[in-house]
Amino acid sequence: MMSKKLFRFVFVLAIVLVPTAPVHAEQSDFSSTIQETIVYVDNNAVTTNYMMHDGDMYVPALFFKHTGAYVDWLEQEQAILFHAKEKMITVPVSKRHSNVFERAFGFWSTNNQQKQAFFFNEEIFVPLVEIAHRLEMSVRYDPIKAKTFITTHIHVPSPSIGQVNTEDKLVALTFDDGPDDIYTPQILDILKEKNAVATFFLVGEEIQAYPDMVRRIVQEGHGLGNHTWQHPNLATIWTEKVREEIKKTQQAMLEVVGRQPDLFRPPYGSLTKADLALLNEIGLRNILWSVDTLDWSGRSADEILLTVHENISKGGIILQHNFGSTEHVLDGTIEALPKIIDELREEGYTFVTVQTLLQADNRQ
Ligand SMILES: [Zn+2]
Repeated sequence: MMSKKLFRFVFVLAIVLVPTAPVHAEQSDFSSTIQETIVYVDNNAVTTNYMMHDGDMYVPALFFKHTGAYVDWLEQEQAILFHAKEKMITVPVSKRHSNVFERAFGFWSTNNQQKQAFFFNEEIFVPLVEIAHRLEMSVRYDPIKAKTFITTHIHVPSPSIGQVNTEDKLVALTFDDGPDDIYTPQILDILKEKNAVATFFLVGEEIQAYPDMVRRIVQEGHGLGNHTWQHPNLATIWTEKVREEIKKTQQAMLEVVGRQPDLFRPPYGSLTKADLALLNEIGLRNILWSVDTLDWSGRSADEILLTVHENISKGGIILQHNFGSTEHVLDGTIEALPKIIDELREEGYTFVTVQTLLQADNRQ
């Protein structure tokens, strides 16, 4: 009897101990399990960090911006808010429930959440499949290719524009990150002398610092665009923060020159589908480029000219800058500009603002 009791005791102890062992192992492995992968969102490859936990894939909450869902952090509730089309859900961190807004009834209901969202390395990781399903997206895992595919059912009407489809030999010069008081006046002097127009994608903080330069840009007939307030990488910030970056800059231009542009360019050319959806909502067209001069890296005038000649075509948009983070970095831009204008005119090109270029778009 005694031995049987002892056996039972040992057995019970074993049951208690065995499950705790792998949990400890898992926790100590946690930091080494963050990896990078590609998830296909509506067949577009999106690179993301992820973590496997209890056989499920967890991604940073901001990953969902690539699906077109707005993603926000509710500080008071310590919860992530996802908003896709008619669907709105909140996922509190480290809780076993999520809340879904029932639009038809106008109230929030609480659902059981199978997998918890959690903080890791100052980021919030959420269960990919469960959140996607709650947002009425389809998720498919292909075990042979070892790839995850998401179909979002979210359509953004106005796509980004890198070049305009036109038969006319039109081209747009664009300058980002300004205004400043070093390069902007030199660029404006050259454009005036050559009687050419350009489009300036301005940063809000620089508008505030150099309002007279913004007035001069407008008075001399150039186009304006919004390039955010503080030049963040939009893919890395919450949707409400993106909205604030854009709206604040629109407001600054309204105050300085009495009008707001309908063009936007994302810093670093980086934006998610959710950022594009937000631009659509606000009424801004997202303008990229077809010719990247890489002038910000301190390129010489000859290198800039070569890049322009190699990549220019009808309806092209040339990317340059008018704010340098270090002294003399844009000297090549200034030296190249009169030559770009003269040489492209010799080839039959006409310089127009991006606004005018868009009006020539055959697809519209
Ligand atoms: Zn920029």
